[in-house]
Amino acid sequence: MDVIHHGAANGVTGSCHELVVTENDSVLIDIGLFQGAETSGADAVNGNAGTNNQEIDFPIDNIKALIITHCHIDHVGRLPWLLIAGYRGPIYCTRATAHLLPMVIEDALKVGLTRNAQLINAVLKILGGLMHPVDYDDWEEILPELRIRFRQAGHILGSSYVECEVAKKTGSLSSFSGTDFSVPEKRDNDPDLFVFSGDLGCKNSPLLPDPTPLERADMLVLESTYGNRNHENRAERQLRLKKVIEHCVSDRGAVLIPAFSIGRTQELLYELEDIIHQCKKEECAKKNSIWQDIVVIVDSPMAAEFTQQYRKMRDLWDAEALGRLEDNRHPLNFARMHIVNSHAEHERLVNYLKSTGEPCIIIAASGMCTGGRMVNYLEALLPDPRTDVLFVGFQAEGTPGRDIQRYGPRGGYVDLEGKRIWIKAEIHTLGGYSAHADQQELIEFIESAEKVKHVRLVHGDANVQREFRDILQKLFPDKTIDCACDL
Ligand SMILES: [Zn+2]
Repeated sequence: MDVIHHGAANGVTGSCHELVVTENDSVLIDIGLFQGAETSGADAVNGNAGTNNQEIDFPIDNIKALIITHCHIDHVGRLPWLLIAGYRGPIYCTRATAHLLPMVIEDALKVGLTRNAQLINAVLKILGGLMHPVDYDDWEEILPELRIRFRQAGHILGSSYVECEVAKKTGSLSSFSGTDFSVPEKRDNDPDLFVFSGDLGCKNSPLLPDPTPLERADMLVLESTYGNRNHENRAERQLRLKKVIEHCVSDRGAVLIPAFSIGRTQELLYELEDIIHQCKKEECAKKNSIWQDIVVIVDSPMAAEFTQQYRKMRDLWDAEALGRLEDNRHPLNFARMHIVNSHAEHERLVNYLKSTGEPCIIIAASGMCTGGRMVNYLEALLPDPRTDVLFVGFQAEGTPGRDIQRYGPRGGYVDLEGKRIWIKAEIHTLGGYSAHADQQELIEFIESAEKVKHVRLVHGDANVQREFRDILQKLFPDKTIDCACDL
């Protein structure tokens, strides 16, 4: 078998695929953490990453390199466990990912393994020595039979899909001419091209360029998180965000937005800045708008740090975001944005909101309510009918976020860190904010290529993979389409 799936085969977490290059050499694409119901063992009940259930359960002697598509925890979170298993080979990723990765790994270590600063520093030092950052669109030979190229995925800063060109035994990499894929017919000895989608972003995402169109693939290993549905109209999503927050604030109380520290938090800040900016422009002060004085609180040291990195790496922003800078606006650092860093300030704020019901917008991790400071807000404020919880991202099966979505609003309960919390808050889910391509965009990605022979669906719930496979098979009867969940 050319590709073996060690994670995200029948769910959306734990992404890890092995590309077998020769009899003795393989490379891994991503090494993600299992989360929610996809984690085995007692910790899964709480949706937490456990210490025993993330262990590497496949042989790694033949793994000659690790390739990382982007630094979300469900794509890199098992890296500490890979190092514990003895892996010391190179780690390839884009420059931005190399920059962000140590922060993610530090967090993964603290949550799942140790808080010992000495140990954490030792792991980060090992990691630093293994990193090989590569520019987008440049081919990099990483084994005599394998070269790779990172392409823009438009999902989060530094995200990529990766092309892996594997030489046939009888051919060689050099028999294929550079980056020129315009050769109409592939010859027998030409290398095979395996493409791993990582997570594909949506078109027109805030801050980020669109995904680069696919050129071709002998085998495309494609994520299918939203393979069974299309997002709500994205063009109107900012208006819907504005409206739903206005509704939430009408009865006072906090608006809690659980969000990934990387990507989602920055997208939300970008759009909230625009809403506040428009409000100024339209002299909404006259209309007594809530946007005159509402405060946006980012309560997450990690999100704050990533936001700072996003601000620094503006060379990767899209044209619209750069245009705002030219207008003297600061999409990720505006006046009404407040960052909570210390735990003491966090606790004071939770208590203050609990007693006063003061309206404000809180953005905090984790995005699926499995841990982090968001859990403290939920424990304190879910029983308060003035509170509103606004979900803007995918909630995996078995996570508290999914339970709140399902059993709220009002009347249901959720178990958070062993405590039963009754939900009186209003619960909203806002579509169109996904950082994942929807069904139509995934189909367009396949169609953007001149030729794709085989599509292997991964990174989706099993029923979604199968539903999407049937749709693709009808659309593309000449292609082989299969699901990792059925292997
Ligand atoms: Zn991701």
